[in-house]
Amino acid sequence: MILLRSLRSQISLSILFVLLVMGILISALVYVIVNRQFEAYTENQVNIRSESIVANIGHQYNAATATWNLDYLHAAGMYALYDGYILTVYDASGQIVWDAESHDMTLCEQIMEDISARMRQWKNNGGFVSKTYDLTQDEQVIGSISVRYYGPYFFSENDVRFIDTLHTVLFLIGLLSLFFALLAGHLLARRIARPVTEAAAIAKQIANGDYEVQWKHEIKTGELNQLISAINELAAQLGKQETLRRQLTANVSHELRTPLAAIGSHLEAMVEGVWEMTPERLKSCHEEVERLSHLVSDLECLAKVEGDNLKLNKTPVNLLEIADSAVATLDTAAAKKSILLAVAGIPTHVPADKDRIRQVLINLLSNAIKYTPSGGHIRVEVKDTPFQGILIVEDDGTGIAEEELPFIFERFYRTDKSRNRKTGGAGIGLAIVKSIVMSHGGTVTAESRENQGSRFTVSLPKEE
Ligand code: ADP
Repeated sequence: MILLRSLRSQISLSILFVLLVMGILISALVYVIVNRQFEAYTENQVNIRSESIVANIGHQYNAATATWNLDYLHAAGMYALYDGYILTVYDASGQIVWDAESHDMTLCEQIMEDISARMRQWKNNGGFVSKTYDLTQDEQVIGSISVRYYGPYFFSENDVRFIDTLHTVLFLIGLLSLFFALLAGHLLARRIARPVTEAAAIAKQIANGDYEVQWKHEIKTGELNQLISAINELAAQLGKQETLRRQLTANVSHELRTPLAAIGSHLEAMVEGVWEMTPERLKSCHEEVERLSHLVSDLECLAKVEGDNLKLNKTPVNLLEIADSAVATLDTAAAKKSILLAVAGIPTHVPADKDRIRQVLINLLSNAIKYTPSGGHIRVEVKDTPFQGILIVEDDGTGIAEEELPFIFERFYRTDKSRNRKTGGAGIGLAIVKSIVMSHGGTVTAESRENQGSRFTVSLPKEE
């Protein structure tokens, strides 16, 4: 089984890991650099101090009396000794004038031991070194001095205190950074993970059939915002589909109920002998059965069109050619009603599914024939515009009442007039037209005046 870890903990851990590695690297680098710099600085300070001691001691010789100021020499020597410098001063003949070790052997040893211990702690493997300098006055050598100290550098107690404080501060900064890294990781992870978790919950609600859910909080992260909009859109679309499906079921059962009830009651009356079985009554039943089979084939057609719209077979087609072919198919039906059917326009090419567009024209033309009385006129026109190919089907038939125009493209919608006529269809023809045109990215509109005629305009885009 795969062990699932939450997005939040994964993000938190990743951020923590990255920040931890960065923190350790930066701390280690700062530690090494600060130590190196401090060692170099101390080494420089040791040299400067040695040279200042030498200069100072040199001044304590009085050339006129050829004597040394022994009191000052002693004071300066002890002062240097406490700082970790063990001095031995010689005169020009090499005789010892002042020597720290012979002056206070125990103190010297103790100071040397202290410094060695401190430097061992620092993991410095240096040792005591001795440097001898000539003492001069007016370019005359008046003696020499030997300076012994822990080389190449050593730390005084103050130095050690300073560097210890620095290390503590660095450690505290590291600790604080770690704390803020944890906090930032936690907050960031929460910020990213929360919408994802909520989105998953909403998706689950949608899966359970609740299409009313909508994500309402504002999210400032671009990708998450897209996810939320996609989920909202999904819920809205599914809701719309669900409403359509319910409407369809309701409409279909309504359409089926009327003819079935008529057939049922007629047959029942005849079986029970209430009615005599006459050819007229049987014919009426037969008509109802025909209406039913018509409805079923219309439904089949709608289902097929809506399914096929997902896989349109688009090729460059000539709308004028399609118009000619559709008119040729319905010529006989029009002629039967003495309706004049004409095509006008110029060859116009658009990318489209030829069979589907033909179906659009057949539906529009069948309606026009159906709703135009004998002796009427139907005209198909093809127009070419820069961005669209346009098909117009115009008749001078019964027309559609203004208040009914907005609904004629809805499934199962029939105008009052056509509902009263038994020959009318189930109100699916225009729904099919709209579905096909929309799937091509086009539009279909209707204009009509009652008892004057109707005009249907289909616009198909030239660009895919
Ligand atoms: P039907 O199968 O009933 O013709 P349609 O979806 O094709 O269904 O049309 C819906 C309604 O629009 C029809 O009932 C009819 O009243 C009206 N209609 C469609 N085309 C025309 C037209 N050319 N002239 C008048 N009415 C029309």
